[in-house]
Amino acid sequence: MKFPAFLLPLLLVGCAGRHSAQPYDLVISHANVVDVESGQVRADQTLCIRQGRIERVGKSTGQPNAATQTIDAQGRYLIPGLWDMHVHFRGGDSLATANRNLLPLYLAHGVTTVRDAGGDLTPSIFQWRRQMQAGQLAGPRIYTSGPKLDGPNPTWAGSLVVETPAQIERALDSLQRLRVDYVKLYESTISGQAFLGAISAAEKRGLTTTGHMPYTVTLREAAERGLDATEHLYYVLKACSNREDSITAAVQRSQGTSKPVGLFAALPAVYRTYDSAVAQRTYRMLVQHRTAVVPTLHIQQVLTELPTTDHARDTMLAYIAPSIQRTYARRIASARAQSAATRAFNQQLGARFRSLIPQMQAAGVTLLAGSDSGPFNSYVYPGASLLGELELLVQAGLSPAQALRCATINGARFMKAEQHAGTIGPGKDADLVLLEQNPLADIRNLHRIQAVVLRGQVYRAAELRRLTEAVKHP
Ligand SMILES: [Zn+2]
Repeated sequence: MKFPAFLLPLLLVGCAGRHSAQPYDLVISHANVVDVESGQVRADQTLCIRQGRIERVGKSTGQPNAATQTIDAQGRYLIPGLWDMHVHFRGGDSLATANRNLLPLYLAHGVTTVRDAGGDLTPSIFQWRRQMQAGQLAGPRIYTSGPKLDGPNPTWAGSLVVETPAQIERALDSLQRLRVDYVKLYESTISGQAFLGAISAAEKRGLTTTGHMPYTVTLREAAERGLDATEHLYYVLKACSNREDSITAAVQRSQGTSKPVGLFAALPAVYRTYDSAVAQRTYRMLVQHRTAVVPTLHIQQVLTELPTTDHARDTMLAYIAPSIQRTYARRIASARAQSAATRAFNQQLGARFRSLIPQMQAAGVTLLAGSDSGPFNSYVYPGASLLGELELLVQAGLSPAQALRCATINGARFMKAEQHAGTIGPGKDADLVLLEQNPLADIRNLHRIQAVVLRGQVYRAAELRRLTEAVKHP
């Protein structure tokens, strides 16, 4: 609907209005607001924030608004707070404090929400959430899966073992008692039957499921059961093979023998049999079942380059507790043990993974930006790695606006929070990042943070520095 021109001044409200007698908690004026959905910039906007919510957004009017705190954002760019859709808090109670100290690092990089993809520190996470809510701790909002579901003798400590339907129901009961936000499946030892059974059982309860997948099942089977997201690209790539059925059958046949074939043994065959027509069918299938994809390109690159990269002088390393750095040993050792052929293959794999990104985007697959940052995942630093992921998504072929969507509105939609999060507008959470330069012009401008707003509270650059210096180790 078009408004007659004479009404326009009334619509350009700034913050005047119903509550104008009461001061706002925060008014941000003259900001260039990045609309991540349209990929457009709305110039010279004023945001009025009360009790952690954006109450009004409109063209700046020049009328001063009563506010406890104001930010003049002239010439700067405001984006919704970033969502890292794949992180981990883990390593056992002895690492709980070290994990908690990762929280300000997310904030300092503009990450205001993270999705914890499974670990063994669930009680600590719930405690941090209460402390953050009470303003006693600075850190991003956390969605968590709680413990992962896996098979017997799982790789990750704290995982819930599911083999039988009864065990699946008991595990889901315990997750629901914990009030986790979704269910994370892992595939170190889980059977294909238990994996698909767990998806169906979770679906019946209305729970969101995401996961790795055993190579004994196909992506289509998992999507048909209701898997809501596939983590990493190993499973999408397998579904792009024109030999998926025979590869899956060979993996199945090998189970229970002395030489079971796992994901990494099957990958070269998967890679060689990539077929672009099959890939297009797979993307359509993912769209049809609304299964999202979390590509995690950055960690794949870091791990591929691990054998040839000296991380000793990484500036972020000083902020990672030595106890967490010690958890890197496993990945470092396996990287050092790699043959030259394996290294070369991992590089090819990374290039193939990147090539899938613009294809999935064009097909309409929902992409979520996730870093896989956390203990054990060597040199994948909290916050910084999400910015690295977004840069790789752009290098792979997404526009900066498309990449930003993967780390804002797509994340909020996935967690069913889009009514109050993921974009900048009235009624939305006041989770914002103020940037010096336009991220739509260059995604690397995400590094140029002037302030982060979380739950309506302002953290200016100096405050963010103070928070991160406090967790720096000597
Ligand atoms: Zn992970």
